[in-house]
Amino acid sequence: MHLDLATLSLLGALQALLLAPLLLVATRAYTGRARTSLRIWGTVLVLQSLGWLLAALRGQISDWWSIVLANGVLIISYAETARALRLLLGVPQRRAWLAAIGLAAWLGIAWFGIVQPDYRTRVCIGAALVGCYLGMLLWPLRHALRPGGSAAQRVMLLVLAGAAVAWFLRLHELGTAAQAGLLQATPGNVVNMIYGTLEPVFASIGFLLMYNETAQAELRRLARTDPLTGTLNRLALDEEGRRLFGQDDALAAVMLDADHFKAINDRFGHAVGDRVLASLARGIAALLRPGDVLGRAGGEEFLVLLPRSDLAGAMALAESLRIHVTMMSLELDGQVQPISVSIGVAVRASGDRDVAALVRRADRALYEAKRAGRNRVVAADAPVA
Ligand code: GH3
Ligand code: MG
Ligand code: MG
Repeated sequence: MHLDLATLSLLGALQALLLAPLLLVATRAYTGRARTSLRIWGTVLVLQSLGWLLAALRGQISDWWSIVLANGVLIISYAETARALRLLLGVPQRRAWLAAIGLAAWLGIAWFGIVQPDYRTRVCIGAALVGCYLGMLLWPLRHALRPGGSAAQRVMLLVLAGAAVAWFLRLHELGTAAQAGLLQATPGNVVNMIYGTLEPVFASIGFLLMYNETAQAELRRLARTDPLTGTLNRLALDEEGRRLFGQDDALAAVMLDADHFKAINDRFGHAVGDRVLASLARGIAALLRPGDVLGRAGGEEFLVLLPRSDLAGAMALAESLRIHVTMMSLELDGQVQPISVSIGVAVRASGDRDVAALVRRADRALYEAKRAGRNRVVAADAPVA
């Protein structure tokens, strides 16, 4: 089979050029760093098509254009790919490093393209450049390989691994046969050109999948978070409660309610009350262990779920929470405002049919704590089996 690499390269260029506006129009509604990242990716597609176009015209235009300019444009497109992906992954972009590596490679290629023409050295420089950039991409993507890692990031890893294989083949060929240039149809060049033609599509799909995954995770986080305190909201508390109840026999529920909170609102205003609630949540969270669950059960009421906890442990934690809150002594409008919480504690008992039953008992104990004078911890009675 005879493959005309120049034609293949032109097709790749055309495909990338058509893909860029489609992608940019289709992702108009995206926001934040994903939007910026996709914009950079759109530019990458245009630069790549320009680079491949210039490279395909080798022999028909001057070497300045087909080697120096083509490689310059391709190097910028690789650097921008790395930047776009790192941005999407939320890791530092390292623009200075990307630029320095790219510039060094470009100067080398220009030298060995025009001053002292040497195809082998140019391929080696190209491989070193791609190796560096791939390293800067594969490192942040390595988490995807862990069990349960991101599926979208794995797709991207696969696309990037393709680049590594294609370049490895080109390098390997250099050691086995003399090479005339990129457009000679050797297996390594063919694989490279086919990869170059398909990569824009697959990498764009990888990009969109990664964006989709990030957006889904963010939506889920927002849907589960109480905006004022940053703790779990009611919906997430119910979910977490059911999960913990299903897997842990030694589960404790600690229900906290701010004492005389209405008075704080009346005296300092609702906005100050909001700030107090947020500090209260931070104060409670500071004392919890990893794995403990904190959520806002209602207005000024918080629920803590303690896995692997017996009554003595839960009571001790509740007592330290109570003391911690009294020591928060908030300064509001220049006055020190004492603040306290009443707490009800219940541990899972055989009579609890579901997590709601356990929480109801903690809530009743909280009511007892209020009745007994507030700023205290009360343990719930075991349910009647
Ligand atoms: P008690 O010691 O009996 O719990 O007295 P309390 O005043 O805290 O109880 P009550 O249930 O009478 O009042 C709760 C107050 O909490 C009333 C409501 O305005 C306030 N509150 C509920 N949610 C918020 C909120 O999101 N922000 C602010 N600032 N206040 C809130
Ligand atoms: Mg209250
Ligand atoms: Mg209340």
